[in-house]
Amino acid sequence: MTAEMRNELCDRAWIELDYEALRHNVEFFKGRLPKECRLMPAIKADAYGHGAILMGRELNRLGVDAFCVACVEEGIELRRAGVKGEILILGYTHPSRFDMLGKYHLAQAVVDYDYARELNRFGKTVHVHVAVDTGMHRLGERSENIERICAIYGMKNLIADGIFSHLCATDVVAAREQAYTRRQVEEFGHVVEELEKRGCRCGKVHLLSSYGMMNYPQFAGDYARVGIALYGLLSTEEDGAAWEGCLRPVLSLKARVASVRKLYAGEHAGYGMQFEAVGDTRVATVCIGYADGVPRELSNGRGEALVRGTRVPIIGRVCMDQLMLDVGGVPEVRAGDEAVFIGKSYGERITAGEVAARCETITNEVLSRLGARLRRVVA
Ligand SMILES: *Cc1c(COP(=O)(O)O)cnc(C)c1O
Repeated sequence: MTAEMRNELCDRAWIELDYEALRHNVEFFKGRLPKECRLMPAIKADAYGHGAILMGRELNRLGVDAFCVACVEEGIELRRAGVKGEILILGYTHPSRFDMLGKYHLAQAVVDYDYARELNRFGKTVHVHVAVDTGMHRLGERSENIERICAIYGMKNLIADGIFSHLCATDVVAAREQAYTRRQVEEFGHVVEELEKRGCRCGKVHLLSSYGMMNYPQFAGDYARVGIALYGLLSTEEDGAAWEGCLRPVLSLKARVASVRKLYAGEHAGYGMQFEAVGDTRVATVCIGYADGVPRELSNGRGEALVRGTRVPIIGRVCMDQLMLDVGGVPEVRAGDEAVFIGKSYGERITAGEVAARCETITNEVLSRLGARLRRVVA
């Protein structure tokens, strides 16, 4: 990309995607998982903010041909953009949208037995993956209801391409969580075994999401539904740090400085007079706000940005479309400069994990809330 092109695309606030990092992560998972286990990346919530179409296309190029999303609309969007391969909808699809499943070749998760009956009543062939509840108690038919699960396989309009469960305690490797995980895995294995005994052909079997894959790769089935780790992160800074080098962050978040002004001692900045200058300083106003996904929790010095390789605090309250930085310590800052909110600037780095910690949440939430208004560009 020429500097001119870059300036045109990166004119206000944007996300930069590092495809080389994505490729590295995909290769790392392939090495970690048994050969017969394929990746089924979770590209729901606009690929955790990265841009679902960009990610889907790039993953296709990397040889990935199975995906999961949260809802039917996300599946349709990918198909319309020409993304190839299997697409599984993990969440609920309302009966009014059942016709979209066939039209766009989407597989639907069977969220429970009653839902299977409803899908079957639709009267047209639907590809499904049967969800089994082994202990998360969110979706899936309960694992002890073998007869009901078996009956789903007998429904004439449903083609069961697979069966899966979701592990809910794989992020903590301590006795209690390990025992719970092992019980979930055993329950799931038992269901699969019983179904086969009864002559049901289970199809693809899958259990693992990111933490499962990192901490329990031995439980890999036919697919790994990798989400957050695909993007080179885990949910917290500490968890991610343990895999430094193995996982490479794909996303950076940047925005332009719109204006730099002097602020005299005792003056305030932003809504509600929240910032007061102790001494004379300089304020840089940046073109990004909470509507772009910069959490408002980062107001009043709780968050920082990098300008010209230096960490500077966010001052006052984050606004919808703008925020202010105290750049008193970086006199060379000018309008048009780039401010980095996630990513690197010279030797300095702000990670998504750091932002998440400052907001008392996880990286998954920070990323998935990044705004539709941000342009996604490949660095
Ligand atoms: C979101 C989701 C995933 C991916 O989760 P990560 O923790 O981001 O890897 C996998 N499976 C199901 C059922 C999900 O809802």
